[in-house]
Amino acid sequence: MRKKIAAANWKMNLTYAQANELLDNLFSKKYSLSENQQVVIAVPAPYLHLAKEKTQGKNQVFISAQNIYTKKSGAYTGEISVEMLQSMGIEHTIIGHSERRDYFNESNEFLKEKVDICLENHITPIFCCGEALEVREQNKQNQFVAKQIEESLFHLSSTDIQKVVIAYEPIWAIGTGKTATSEQAQEIQQFIRQLIANKYDAATADAVSILYGGSVKANNAKELFSQPDIDGGLVGGASLNAEEFAAIINALA
Ligand code: PGA
Repeated sequence: MRKKIAAANWKMNLTYAQANELLDNLFSKKYSLSENQQVVIAVPAPYLHLAKEKTQGKNQVFISAQNIYTKKSGAYTGEISVEMLQSMGIEHTIIGHSERRDYFNESNEFLKEKVDICLENHITPIFCCGEALEVREQNKQNQFVAKQIEESLFHLSSTDIQKVVIAYEPIWAIGTGKTATSEQAQEIQQFIRQLIANKYDAATADAVSILYGGSVKANNAKELFSQPDIDGGLVGGASLNAEEFAAIINALA
């Protein structure tokens, strides 16, 4: 059975003291996770160690990086390698967030390399895709997202693509308070699953977790997560509030 995941993306927010407090607050809240459910918290790189320490002994709760580089080590000042993550027991990283694609010019081809280095080193990539408003207005979102997925993921074997978590995040819904309706999100996420089924087979497609991201809040999470092809969320703004994020975790149920 594929995993249901509540993933937090803190982005470039919080001081060390605030990060510490948020983790303490979150873990003091009541949330329950059944066997196929996970919480993943993508914190800024300087807080990975702190966050990892705080999750010791917490089952099904994982700390994630927000980005990695395509090389294992070397003269790449400022970058973070999968080897570093691995050496800290970190098992996830976000890759290809639309903010990375837009502000740092990350292409599908470059992200393909990131996917590969993650999988070679047993790190789960949370691979983001999603269209801008102009694309949606022309009703070309399916083609756009298909290209992102085909160019970065479709070189993988059936076994390997099942290790990738896909996060569909329409850019027009990120940080805007404008959530895709559950029907809009379901429609495109079903399309993504079908695309994988066409390339591989139905069993492979069925095993891939596909998250929705873009203004997920405590008050819309349940409705979104109840859609058959929405296996949880990648949550930005609302993950910075312990109460909200705990409610979003509970909405996985
Ligand atoms: P948001 O961000 O929840 O603040 O819209 C989601 C994301 O960018 O991952």
